Amino acid sequence: MHEMSYVTRFVGLALKTAEEKKAKKVEKVIIEVGDMAGLEDYYLDKYYKLAVKDTVLDGSILEIDHIPVKAECDMCGNIYHPCKENNYLCKCGAGSGKIIEGRGLTVRQVIMDV
Ligand SMILES: [Zn+2]
Repeated sequence: MHEMSYVTRFVGLALKTAEEKKAKKVEKVIIEVGDMAGLEDYYLDKYYKLAVKDTVLDGSILEIDHIPVKAECDMCGNIYHPCKENNYLCKCGAGSGKIIEGRGLTVRQVIMDV
């Protein structure tokens, strides 16, 4: 379950943000998860609840936003979303591109009471 290491990392970041703002309570943490990251909401949520226990994040809601994969075509430089509909190909027909978005996990926002 590689979700655990991601959760440890972003909970650390969210905690740091909350500490810097001297938050009394954190309502919600919003994260962005790329469709290519291979992370399941179920496990992210499950590990989140464990990781935040006895911290200022305890009791907060984890909101997960999914970010579609974006690639930049190696052949023509076009930015496209590789998906089933286009057979993961660029409109020029090339199948190789650099993934520029959608593979990681980032903290978008920490909503808290200060
Ligand atoms: Zn192309």
